[in-house]
Amino acid sequence: MGEFRRVPAMEDPYEYVERCPWKIACEPFRVAPHVWYVSGNTWVGAYLIDTGDGLILIDTFEVRALYLLTEAVRKAGFDPGEIKLILLSHGHADHCGGLKALQEMTKAKVYMSKEDYEVKKTHFDRVFFRPDGQDFEPDGFYSDQKTIELGTIRIRTKLCPGHTPGTTSFFFWDEDGEGKRYLCGMHGGAGTGFLSDEYLDDYGYPRWFRQRFVDDCKEMASWPVDICLASHPNMTNFLSGVNWEDPSDYQGFVDRGAWRNFMLERAEDAERLGRGETRAR
Ligand SMILES: [Zn+2]
Repeated sequence: MGEFRRVPAMEDPYEYVERCPWKIACEPFRVAPHVWYVSGNTWVGAYLIDTGDGLILIDTFEVRALYLLTEAVRKAGFDPGEIKLILLSHGHADHCGGLKALQEMTKAKVYMSKEDYEVKKTHFDRVFFRPDGQDFEPDGFYSDQKTIELGTIRIRTKLCPGHTPGTTSFFFWDEDGEGKRYLCGMHGGAGTGFLSDEYLDDYGYPRWFRQRFVDDCKEMASWPVDICLASHPNMTNFLSGVNWEDPSDYQGFVDRGAWRNFMLERAEDAERLGRGETRAR
């Protein structure tokens, strides 16, 4: 994987989305036996799970460049119309901005956290991060006590307040044709940019969000995740796992240490932020 596929440094990645989305375009690739990276771009992740009874999409990227996602789904060999379930990691426009358009296109059921839904009702511009985001209604809310099931896939959610009040992480087992199982995990919002006192106060969120973020990361670090799905590829050098010679080869993503290291590094980052030793990022 060459460095050229990374997003170049830019003040605001939305500049790419609005002015030149092709510069962050990314071909789809497989990350687990039945899971494909289909955001169509290198900035924000989105995952398509083939459950054998319809498709699940985790996160929807941004509406202005949604063609990158729908094209990626097709290039991966799937029909966007077969998406039956859409799960949102958190209410920021780079992850849910494309939701309304996809909801209309696919008629898929949509699930999100109750917490981010409440923020959406009262602070639409904030939960969407952009005042011109397109509103939508979900079909249901997550419960950490109840798995989300479709076909062969059962997804466990974990509420991880911090990045937003309702940031939700996802965990599910995926099995290959020979019976080998892989635990896939995705932290729903690992960026610490919203965990500084300044941000939390400005958004009216409690400061304990930061400690909760730290505690959740440390707890999840011990979970035996085999495949760490990145909500933003640059946070984990995720694209280095791609075999571009054969994008259906997911073995480059099987790495139990990657998840643990990522969680501990995120926790440490937030702790440093709390001690005033680093800036939010
Ligand atoms: Zn976010």
